[in-house]
Amino acid sequence: MSDTATLEIQPGRLFIGGEWQDAASGRTFDTINPATAETLTQVAEGGAADVDRAAHAAREAFESDSWQKLDARKRGRLLYAIADAMEERADELARLETMDNGKPVREARMIDIKESIDCFRYYAGWADKIDGDVIPVPGPYLNYTRREPVGVCGAIIPWNYPLQMAAWKVAPALACGNAVILKPAEQTSLTALELARIASSAGLPAGILNVVTGFGEDAGAALVAHPQVDKIAFTGSTAVGKIIQRQAADTLKRVSLELGGKSPNIVLEDADVDAAVRGASMAIFYNTGQACTAGSRLLVHESIRDEFVEKLLKRAAGFVPGDPLDPKTRLGPLVSQEQMDRVMGYIEQGKNEGGNLLMGGDRVEVNGKAGYFINPTIFGDVTSRMTIACEEIFGPVLAVQTFSDMDEALEIGNSTEYGLAAAVWTKDVRKAHVAAHRLRAGTVWINTYHNLDTASPFGGYKQSGYGRELGRHALDLYTQVKSVWVNLG
Ligand code: ADP
Repeated sequence: MSDTATLEIQPGRLFIGGEWQDAASGRTFDTINPATAETLTQVAEGGAADVDRAAHAAREAFESDSWQKLDARKRGRLLYAIADAMEERADELARLETMDNGKPVREARMIDIKESIDCFRYYAGWADKIDGDVIPVPGPYLNYTRREPVGVCGAIIPWNYPLQMAAWKVAPALACGNAVILKPAEQTSLTALELARIASSAGLPAGILNVVTGFGEDAGAALVAHPQVDKIAFTGSTAVGKIIQRQAADTLKRVSLELGGKSPNIVLEDADVDAAVRGASMAIFYNTGQACTAGSRLLVHESIRDEFVEKLLKRAAGFVPGDPLDPKTRLGPLVSQEQMDRVMGYIEQGKNEGGNLLMGGDRVEVNGKAGYFINPTIFGDVTSRMTIACEEIFGPVLAVQTFSDMDEALEIGNSTEYGLAAAVWTKDVRKAHVAAHRLRAGTVWINTYHNLDTASPFGGYKQSGYGRELGRHALDLYTQVKSVWVNLG
């Protein structure tokens, strides 16, 4: 198969209790290729009745001997087997992700798919290492702790890294011995369904991983409300995160939220300008800016602003929107018409509020199709009050601001309701660490951007959410601690 060849894609059905099923309503919806605006296939539109079936299947599977009595080391081996099977199909998964989401296939293969496989391997290794403590208590008692699974976990994920977001939740949840109901984003259901197929073929017992495709207000909300679901792990917008937290309160579910961002990328006057220019363009244009950690606010010291912006414009011109199935493409389309319209709306607002449009700001056509492409867009002379400096745009739109000293940069950097990520570029090790300590964000990068690793915790400060995914920290999300007392008297 040539690199740009498309795949034959089957209609997506629900995966519940180890079986492929239609939605109880019989309804389906189209999933669209954002590079062409053409329909790829139909996906089952799951609703409350389907979530109910999935919740009962998951509960039964969770409590069954085949899961409860499976020793932890064998659970680990199952996760390794899932990772191996994903690796065998990695090229195909990358193309599927690209067709469903629009991201450049090279990035899908080298980042999304590779990191998803890595995530399963990493948590496979943890499965038999989730141990407890013996606590020295007074009196003739033995007190020890067990770290038990939470039970049935609902994972609600976004469309920007479809398989990777599924892996970040499913892999640690399974390693800890939970059952999972995965609700992919309605824009990008396909790789989640393939993950279920792969996991099932690798030997995961029926009902331990279920996938209910559908819309947020139906399938998603039903999952949050269902009394048999013990926990919700959500990645998505801050607005929906707030709704989920409120609704989960009715059944007092555990909730972890990974939400939006408006991350400051700060370039101090002593920075290596060329490296920072490379970093700043990648920070905003990677994944077409559709990353919750996108470096969407570039804060440059006023003394280097002109040189920096000149180099940045040259660099940004290299991000040419193109066919995402072409391995040379570095900038794909936005995921949907809705997102494109939203981003174009922000660009208009930026212009109306006095932002200085330095490049881009317009739609482009690729291969003569009506795909959702927007040129790399950079606004100069942005002030903190402008909407494009405050709200998460989720597109290839960069707002450039200046500052006169580091205190001012940190103040501007922190003046946001978000706190997901931040970066600082400097050759001064003291300033680098002072900035890292003072920036209120869950991840801080120094002289680099967008690094992530399965072993390193990830999550937000402030309204970017709470709970830490990845690393050993994710084990806390998917276990609960039981204290056991034994009378030795
Ligand atoms: P975005 O704005 O990036 O599309 P959303 O936060 O709307 O992100 O969506 C992220 C995920 O949350 C998707 O899977 C979506 O279907 C789901 N979702 C949206 N609204 C709700 C809701 N009210 N309850 C539960 N899930 C929802």
